Amino acid sequence: MLSPEMPCDEVLRQQILDDNELVDTPADAYLDTLVRVVREVFGVKTVLISLIDHDRQWFKSRIGLEITETPRTISFCAHAILGTQPFIVEDTHNDLRFHDNPVVINNPQIRFYAGQPLLSEEGQPLGTLCMIDPEPRQLTAKQLRLFVDMAVLVEGYLKLRHVSAQTAKLREALSREQRKTMLDPLTQLWNRAGLNHFLLKQEQQADELGLHLGVLFCDLDHFKRINDQYGHAAGDQVLWETARRINAAVRPQDIVTRSGGEEFVVLLQVHDEQELLHIAERIRNTLSKEPIELDEQQLSLTISIGAALRTPSETPNEAMNRADQALYQAKGNGRNRVELAS
Ligand code: GH3
Ligand code: MG
Ligand code: MG
Repeated sequence: MLSPEMPCDEVLRQQILDDNELVDTPADAYLDTLVRVVREVFGVKTVLISLIDHDRQWFKSRIGLEITETPRTISFCAHAILGTQPFIVEDTHNDLRFHDNPVVINNPQIRFYAGQPLLSEEGQPLGTLCMIDPEPRQLTAKQLRLFVDMAVLVEGYLKLRHVSAQTAKLREALSREQRKTMLDPLTQLWNRAGLNHFLLKQEQQADELGLHLGVLFCDLDHFKRINDQYGHAAGDQVLWETARRINAAVRPQDIVTRSGGEEFVVLLQVHDEQELLHIAERIRNTLSKEPIELDEQQLSLTISIGAALRTPSETPNEAMNRADQALYQAKGNGRNRVELAS
């Protein structure tokens, strides 16, 4: 029998799984419905939503299996999360990795296994949606696509569940009247007052979650030229579209603000610099990859970004200042780039 290897970034993966607060939580009616539907559609004995947790796999949802967990060492799903594609074993009896696995020899006597990794917002595999049957089986290409689609639904649901819990915490202290004064009418993003408000909130919440406050200062490159060449109204449209693109490039729990003019500040809670830079690159790419379409013209635009991760000894405002400095560097080093503050 071949025991599964550990993912190379297992510490981070486990931490993100923990942050999601999924393991050892009560049954969830929606997920239970979903595994029921999958079992009906594919006609298999067992369907599981399995989470890979330290030295075990724990089933968030299950149908057709009585136990709640198994050791990780004998888990098929722990193999499946090492890749991003569906992990299929058509017949365990013909597979040297699994033929003598205890769950093959003894109950539930697995012959067929199909597992699709379920990724977190950060792209880390939390576990799988998987199907098990005591008879060998093959999936057609169409069935395989359907199975992956089902996993997309589970994944989406898990993400929304996580985010709604987080954003509820973040927004609760803000009244409707306060909110109005914190919105920028042009872009419908938070304005500078919103930035100041959420800066402290994000920092507090990052602390509570054992994460770090990350700040991204984003400034459109040579934006003045747009105004000069196409007029102020076109400039406004570009700001609107830029706001949409930045919002789509970040995660739902991140706070996007228009701090002034053509400058946008994003507040995030991240594990490390790498995660911060990854999101910064997504923002940079979302502008450079295709031109902004106005009524008459297509405008190619780029954005420069300064990034800072708050150190334990500094205030949130000091982290903001460092991000601002890094933005200057990004401009000085040729624009359309991300610079991390030292
Ligand atoms: P850089 O790459 O160095 O950032 O150059 P830039 O041209 O983007 O920066 P600069 O600070 O020289 O110009 C920013 C321009 O943004 C000047 C100002 O008229 C314009 N601007 C600020 N607010 C608005 C707005 O609400 N609407 C429009 N259309 N333009 C705005
Ligand atoms: Mg600019
Ligand atoms: Mg500027």
